[in-house]
Amino acid sequence: MRRFELAEPQTLEEACALLNDDGDAKALAGGTALLTLIKHGIFIPKTLVNLKKIGGMSGIDYDRQRGLRIGALTSIYDVESSPLVCQYYPWLAEACHLVANIRIRNMATIGGNLAHGDYQSDPPTALVALDASVDLTRGTGTRQIKLSEFLLGSYETALQPGELLSALVVPPPDSWRGTYIKFTTGSSEERPCAGIAALLRMEQGICRDLRLVVGAVSPRPVRMHHAEEFARGKEISEAVLQTIGAEASRVVDPIDDLRGSASYKRQLVGVLVRRALAAVIH
Ligand SMILES: Cc1cc2nc3c(=O)[nH]c(=O)nc-3n(C[C@H](O)[C@H](O)[C@H](O)COP(=O)(O)OP(=O)(O)OC[C@H]3O[C@@H](n4cnc5c(N)ncnc54)[C@H](O)[C@@H]3O)c2cc1C
Repeated sequence: MRRFELAEPQTLEEACALLNDDGDAKALAGGTALLTLIKHGIFIPKTLVNLKKIGGMSGIDYDRQRGLRIGALTSIYDVESSPLVCQYYPWLAEACHLVANIRIRNMATIGGNLAHGDYQSDPPTALVALDASVDLTRGTGTRQIKLSEFLLGSYETALQPGELLSALVVPPPDSWRGTYIKFTTGSSEERPCAGIAALLRMEQGICRDLRLVVGAVSPRPVRMHHAEEFARGKEISEAVLQTIGAEASRVVDPIDDLRGSASYKRQLVGVLVRRALAAVIH
């Protein structure tokens, strides 16, 4: 590994200033993604700004009105094992639990997972379904944007130079029932070939509202708006499941990659969407 400078700011403002003043500096959180890039020579750092010494950037709070707030430095393991997350957002706990393995989840942060912008990830799919937002901080000011607008494409996010993702904000769960399912083409510890988040609100057997998100098959998680609209006001019968699956399969625009061809992923999405919805209903 080549030599690089390591800065260890104690405050968020200090970290933002370091990143702003040096365009070559890069934030370091859990390091599970960044250190791999460095080891393979894909990224050659001049300065790394270690975020781990900054106080107040981790932890999980829940408020009935405001929902969930998760500090960016909270580990993925702490999200999946949080009693608050497990009680109010079990499908988010599940999406985090399905990331890699316990060693990675202990080191990796939820903020790093989102800021890295790798489309083959699990938590973003569940979080887009939950209509989550992220707080982006630059020195003294913070802006909040929807996660669906933050994730722009493969390794592309709306982060501006000198900005850090400081927290994740998730609206109250209301009466959603949901699930997240992950499909890998290798071992269960691998990154997803596809991930499906389905949230459903039912009233007397009728679908009042559906949120359906397909992740890991295209450069960012995609809401299946047509399928959602189609499901509203209907009983989710086998025929409706078939139609929703077929619609999702038609709408996705998959990428060919090492985990599967585009045509394979298109078919897979139809199957997984039906499975996810069936799991929520039963
Ligand atoms: C073997 C392996 C298997 C994996 N499997 C999965 C999987 O199945 N599912 C899945 O979802 N993910 C998977 N991952 C990805 C893993 O979840 C991410 O690597 C991790 O969440 C990144 O978080 P980190 O804290 O380690 O980030 P780092 O590696 O420290 O940083 C990643 C990037 O984000 C930037 N960054 C970090 N924090 C912030 C912040 N607060 N604000 C702004 N920028 C920031 C860094 O500058 C860097 O560019 C896997 C990773 C590995 C190594």
